[in-house]
Amino acid sequence: MFASVIIDQDTKALDKVFDYKIPDELNIKEGFRVLVPFGSRILQGFVVEIKSQAGYDEAKIKKVISSVDDFPIIKPEMLKLMKFMCDKFHLRLTSVLKLVVPSEMREGKVKDLFVKWAVLKPNFELQNLNKAKVQQKIVVKLQELKKAKLNDLKEEFGISAVKALIEKGVIEIVLEKINRQPYLTEREDKKVVLNEMQRKAIETVKGEGVFLLHGVTGSGKTEVYMNLISKVLQEGKNAIMLVPEISLTPQVMSTFRARFGENIALLHSNLSAGERFDEWKRLFSGQAKVVVGARSAIFAPLENVGIIIIDEQHEATYISESNPRYDTFDVAKFRANFNKCPLLVGSATPSVDIYEKTKDQEVKLVELPVRANGKELPKIQIIDMMNEIRVGNSGIFSTQLLTDLASVINDKKQAMIFINRRGFSSFMMCRECGYVAKCTDCDVSLVYHREDNRLKCHYCGKQYKVLDKCPNCGSDKIKQGAVGTERVVKELQEIFKDVKILRMDNDTTSRKNGHEKILEEFRKTTPAILVGTQMIAKGHDFENVTLVGIIDADQSLYRADYRSTERCFQLITQVAGRAGRSTFEGKVDLQTYSPRHYVYKFAANYDYKGFFKKEANLRKTASFPPYSKIIRILFSHTDENVVRDELKSCYNKLLKVREKFFDDIIYMDAMKSPIKRIKNSYRYQVIIRIKLEHCDEIEKEIFKCTEDVLKSSVFFEVNPENMS
Ligand code: ADP
Ligand code: ZN
Ligand code: ZN
Repeated sequence: MFASVIIDQDTKALDKVFDYKIPDELNIKEGFRVLVPFGSRILQGFVVEIKSQAGYDEAKIKKVISSVDDFPIIKPEMLKLMKFMCDKFHLRLTSVLKLVVPSEMREGKVKDLFVKWAVLKPNFELQNLNKAKVQQKIVVKLQELKKAKLNDLKEEFGISAVKALIEKGVIEIVLEKINRQPYLTEREDKKVVLNEMQRKAIETVKGEGVFLLHGVTGSGKTEVYMNLISKVLQEGKNAIMLVPEISLTPQVMSTFRARFGENIALLHSNLSAGERFDEWKRLFSGQAKVVVGARSAIFAPLENVGIIIIDEQHEATYISESNPRYDTFDVAKFRANFNKCPLLVGSATPSVDIYEKTKDQEVKLVELPVRANGKELPKIQIIDMMNEIRVGNSGIFSTQLLTDLASVINDKKQAMIFINRRGFSSFMMCRECGYVAKCTDCDVSLVYHREDNRLKCHYCGKQYKVLDKCPNCGSDKIKQGAVGTERVVKELQEIFKDVKILRMDNDTTSRKNGHEKILEEFRKTTPAILVGTQMIAKGHDFENVTLVGIIDADQSLYRADYRSTERCFQLITQVAGRAGRSTFEGKVDLQTYSPRHYVYKFAANYDYKGFFKKEANLRKTASFPPYSKIIRILFSHTDENVVRDELKSCYNKLLKVREKFFDDIIYMDAMKSPIKRIKNSYRYQVIIRIKLEHCDEIEKEIFKCTEDVLKSSVFFEVNPENMS
């Protein structure tokens, strides 16, 4: 028999399947780790196929040297998934391998952690120790304690005494494997009686297919997830539960740990290598039955999966933007199909993309329209910042927000202040009339590029001069605006001197468990104000928060992205959802310079359906996804000439594709990427927008045009979240 092996090194040259002969004495199956001769070296590889005939001349074929384990590291489902992903996302097998087998299992740097215990041998001979006082003390101690950590003994009594006892056969060493478990604050399992709508949702989600749980913030979606997982566990199956990112995980995970105990394994990027290794192995061996984690947890080595849940479905973090690029939803759908189990995605603000799919039942819609506590959603007040300027207040905070903050503090409650800081980009806006500079061809807002002091469209690459006067009203108060968390904290602290003001952003959370610590401190302090970025928008459940302030809602609105209105709606709804979650009523102060934009009207009324209808119509008219497909091909290389040449030859091929599908390709152009250089690599891109009808076929042809690009690295993305 022969084994097709991929070599564990992610380079284009090695992205091939190599065939090896399996010696008769070796029992090697698909998914095994093996050692194989490769050139003059011996390398680790993974068997992706067993076959009776080799793909090339048998005489030249080398033999597998040995297998590393006696079981497959890559289970059959995961092997199929790897092949699916290569196809779907145009990836290399070796890149996908990294997702399925964590690096700890590939490079072997992280080892099982053992603790050495010292114990007395059953019939040791004490008389040997007559003169050795220290050794006697050790024996007495061990008689008392039964066992002690070897290192502790060495520290207390010195290495030589301990060593002597081991040599004399008085004590022996026992190894105990330690499971490194991620830190979580203890929480009690909150018992709730499910309401009618939650019960109905739980009954509906069964069998195969994709389900969308559209539930307003605080409607008790988590409770629905947990009940579904309980059901699955009772059937003897396993479950995968994904949450967007670190900001949300500590709290969610404590909640899950409280309910499911040791059945839970956690997988996210904030774990130490050792913790991740041990959690992965607990899943692999079946000790843990539920994985809760961020995006990469979709690759958890669980078999017999009974449900896959993706919470906060709309979150961009489910799309991997660096190599290997993939969409978690598609991976989840593959695994759900394979396991013949439901895929449940939940959100208070589903993406336009998925909601569109509920129309023809491709995705089944389940709704939780009211909050579990029976309370109204917090009232959202739209505050016209343009008006503040008119009456002489050009500061960060409106009078209304300051008044409301004062009364929160007076009531010893809590407030959250949200600042939108996403990406590097910022737009140009007139502080007098609200005019925003837009691309004349694409109707998206322009992005200011400081390095060459120009405004650019991220969709077509068109450039504009920076404005010094507003073309609409002639005012010179046209500038790009963005406030940072630090400044907000500083100004708030000056106004509310004795109040605890906490800050949560990338800077303050980079240390391990940084999020957790800030959130715990906030949880136990009243009154208090938490100032933060996107990180505070999601998931948090603080019962004392009665006010949410959104400083600059427009920031998300004028990103140069066809999805920016959708993102804005989602953000407002999510942030607003942090207020009034328990017994106290909540309120939201939303500051904006464009109070009449339709997104605010729908968001303030929590009218998702109305928003969807309007947004879907606009996208249909302008042919943007989900009513078209945008493909971006990103080229990068350290030598600018190399990228340009390769881009050019690829583009020439693309021109032929366009000729062939002239009616289907709405737009195609090559340009420098908005960020022209990252890590010394020059970046160029081709953007193509195509109609849906023949899009799969066209996508394949487009991809083919990139296959001869050898020097530059090429990324191929469909409907990218980020075009920078
Ligand atoms: P969501 O995820 O939809 O935003 P959560 O699941 O966090 O909402 O639930 C919001 C709050 O409501 C939580 O404190 C939760 O414990 C509580 N809750 C959920 N279901 C019920 C219920 N049936 N009765 C009472 N409280 C509930
Ligand atoms: Zn444009
Ligand atoms: Zn103006």
